[in-house]
Amino acid sequence: MNKKVMLTGVRPSGNLTLGNYLGAIKNFVDKQEDYISYIFIADLHAITSPKKPQALQEAIYNCVAMYLACGVDPTKTMVFKQSDVLEHGTLGFIMTFQTKMGELSRMTQFKYKSMQQTKEGVNTGLFVYPTLMVADILLYNTSIVPVGKDQQQHVELTRDLAERFNKRYGNTFVMPDVYIAPVGNKILNLQNPLEKMNKSDNSNNKGTIFLMDDIETVKKKIMQAKTDTLSCVHFDEENQPGISNLMSILSKITNESFESIENRYKGKGYGEFKKEVCEVVSTLLTNIQQRFHKFNNKTLLDSILADGAKRAQPTAQETLQRAKLALGLQS
Ligand code: AMP
Repeated sequence: MNKKVMLTGVRPSGNLTLGNYLGAIKNFVDKQEDYISYIFIADLHAITSPKKPQALQEAIYNCVAMYLACGVDPTKTMVFKQSDVLEHGTLGFIMTFQTKMGELSRMTQFKYKSMQQTKEGVNTGLFVYPTLMVADILLYNTSIVPVGKDQQQHVELTRDLAERFNKRYGNTFVMPDVYIAPVGNKILNLQNPLEKMNKSDNSNNKGTIFLMDDIETVKKKIMQAKTDTLSCVHFDEENQPGISNLMSILSKITNESFESIENRYKGKGYGEFKKEVCEVVSTLLTNIQQRFHKFNNKTLLDSILADGAKRAQPTAQETLQRAKLALGLQS
């Protein structure tokens, strides 16, 4: 049976978080052998807010080393930088012509991020960001895109635009499906469990667990996580968002069901429960960090990225040619 294609990406902006790992990277790693797998560093997406060049370079290397540390295997997965495969930019530009201003204005991420950019004026790149993401996905004939819940709308836009293009110009693109895992698709800020855990965190980073945080800091963050006064380990996202968030973290790492966790903690307090979460997260991060140091070698990372781009590019080129042919840009 021919393997289908799976693709996902992460922006190299800031350090990766436990949310990135549980919401996207882990799902990808668990499935990488079952698909033709692509994972890319979304470096063009990272420049929607200005960065110091040196810092961006470091962040890119960091991100690749982190993928590898999290279990992405470059012999099974093509790991590459978006900017190394020039077809992303061209198809991204083409897709802007299939898109209505209203569609982009409705994107939740645009609304949220543009509020943060209002002082200097909102960057056009931020506005057209989703059309580049559409190209990222369509170039590789992707069937499945494992992402966190926050990216669902962008994959839905990809489906809409692929369908529109196919209807107008003939069958050109494969329709992708989003894969949002039932558990851990939106890990919340530990200090404000009504907000997503983000790389940029307004609570002095106390609410975000970074994959490279030192283990004592991680334990402190978990022990100080905001909960409630109900004193009952129970999964109820509406009334007990803090505890439910910690349960999601535990369940996603250990595969234990919420019901089983609830049964084990019947009549017990939050302190004991949080200690178990500390243990499980600490073991996970200790392993990731040890592997990170092993892979954090620029020569090795450069060769993995060059090999990944070389293997990914022919498919991107084929798809772009198909689109150009369909549009009449090529005969
Ligand atoms: P970003 O960091 O925005 O580039 O996101 C990279 C991937 O991580 C995307 O698939 C996001 O949906 C996912 N992600 C980011 N933050 C979280 C979170 N707090 N919970 C679950 N998934 C997340």
